[in-house]
Amino acid sequence: MGQSARGKGRALARLRRLKQWFARYIGKNYGHLAADCAICPTPCCSDAQFVNVHIVRLEAEAMVETLRRSPQHGPDKVRAVQARARAAIARYGLTETGDTFAQTYACPLFEPGVGCLVHWKAKPAACIQHGCYERWEDLPETGTQRAVEQRVAALDEAVYAAPAVWLPIPLWIAKLEEAEGHQSSS
Ligand code: SF4
Ligand code: SF4
Repeated sequence: MGQSARGKGRALARLRRLKQWFARYIGKNYGHLAADCAICPTPCCSDAQFVNVHIVRLEAEAMVETLRRSPQHGPDKVRAVQARARAAIARYGLTETGDTFAQTYACPLFEPGVGCLVHWKAKPAACIQHGCYERWEDLPETGTQRAVEQRVAALDEAVYAAPAVWLPIPLWIAKLEEAEGHQSSS
């Protein structure tokens, strides 16, 4: 394994631990106040008018690796998610330019009856933070999410030696697939 591959492996492990720490923090302090997503009749992840979650490249790598290494998913699921990401880009007209946060899409990582395919190991901080609360004063504070996202960006920048680029999930999944295709054909 080369030095850069080892560096990326370490960064992916740190990213996973950071997300898991944040998920535990939100779960412990706010989980009991939020609605139970497992029995939600209208999951927000599949709401094409609602989801505008952005990630950086390292998070897309973490999502794909999580699926690829998962005993119950594997490479077939990676290909299915990549196909859904390409379909979402075409269907919702997702682009890297302009106000990307104004673009919304149904998330390619969501499966009815299963939920988020990367729930525990590679969920974006915005998704960990999000929940439905009866009272607005029960909503989680946002400072920790911002701090987590700064650390995510710093890990990404250290791996790719360039400023982190935040894009809608389908765009990074598709860009990564394209990059992997170029690598395997060269
Ligand atoms: S966050 Fe709210 S809308 Fe989304 S799945 Fe959970 S309960 Fe449903
Ligand atoms: S990454 Fe997971 S939690 Fe976030 S929008 Fe997609 S399916 Fe939902």
